Amino acid sequence: MSYKHGKPGRSRTTLKSPETASQGQLSDTKDTLGKKFTLGKTFTLGKNSVLGKKPRGKKPAGDRPPSSALWASEAAQIADAAPGLVGVAARAPAASGIVTVRPGWTCDLSAIDPNADGGLDKEKAKEALIAERARIKALQERLYAEHQRSLLVVFQAIDTGGKDGTIRNVFEGVNPQGCRVWSFKVPSSEERDHDFLWRYHAKAPARGMIGVFNRSHYEDVLVVRVKDLVPDTVWRARYGLINDFERMLTVSGTTVLKFFLHISKDEQKERLEARIAEPEKHWKFDAADLVERKSWDAYQAAFTDALTHCSTPEAPWHVVPANRKWFRNLVIARTIADTLEAMDPRFPEAQPGVSEMKVPD
Ligand code: ADP
Repeated sequence: MSYKHGKPGRSRTTLKSPETASQGQLSDTKDTLGKKFTLGKTFTLGKNSVLGKKPRGKKPAGDRPPSSALWASEAAQIADAAPGLVGVAARAPAASGIVTVRPGWTCDLSAIDPNADGGLDKEKAKEALIAERARIKALQERLYAEHQRSLLVVFQAIDTGGKDGTIRNVFEGVNPQGCRVWSFKVPSSEERDHDFLWRYHAKAPARGMIGVFNRSHYEDVLVVRVKDLVPDTVWRARYGLINDFERMLTVSGTTVLKFFLHISKDEQKERLEARIAEPEKHWKFDAADLVERKSWDAYQAAFTDALTHCSTPEAPWHVVPANRKWFRNLVIARTIADTLEAMDPRFPEAQPGVSEMKVPD
């Protein structure tokens, strides 16, 4: 089965069928030790392995169908209901060293070592990053030319977690015309006068684009919860609304890739101290970050719940050990490149006879 996705009158791109797209999407996941395990099968959790102590549902893991199969069947139903309008976002397993939160499991951040570096060598990792950037650059050009689908990359982290540095390092060299970065701050009064997703939806990437969210719709279940900006009932309801929003983007042709940069409390202290000690970093220092640090545990709890409740088959969270910047940059770049490759964007068909055409003098 294949699904067409695209504007009438343009060359249309065949997206992968749900069956094809589900293969390897989420079925192979790697833990921080680099071990592979397969969704839907019973497995044993190692000390540093995947998230979660227990499944939220009542059924043991072995009895549940693989989430990729669930997603495939859901996507097929949607496609049947609205043929020609929806596509299935292709995705790839995260790079080794990243922990993907599996839908239905409770995220346990304390089980993931922020210092993990996959045993890689720093200098080699820096070289490998250059190669991954080149892959992203080439695939982004195809995505832009194809003009059918898009990629949304979401970054969340505690203050000093490294969102800015990651974006700078990973997207260096990408054609700025095909990539937009959006940073979300405290909402303006206009933004507050709309539903909480309004400002994010407005910045979701158009066809052909890579959109990067530096902070995102998750702030509305993170800072908003920690600072008690809305009642409990309001932010709790947002998990489901966020999942619906991301599913809507996905079936509309946007692959949603979410990274949580996981640093330790000690690492945050060091980074804040560096901002105080080094004059060229003073501009980054905000005394408000010291106040926020006092809410470290509350933020970890809020992140845990967001990662748990909003890891869906179509848009799972990826937890990135982020104390070591070079490791963080490499595994994120690799995951983005692999995802773009799985999307397999194609240059549109050339006009007939183009290679024989002559440019008049
Ligand atoms: P950053 O820390 O990302 O470099 P800033 O120092 O300007 O940028 O901080 C942006 C601030 O905006 C953060 O404190 C963040 O918690 C806050 N913020 C973002 N989204 C929201 C939101 N929806 N509601 C309240 N505060 C928010």
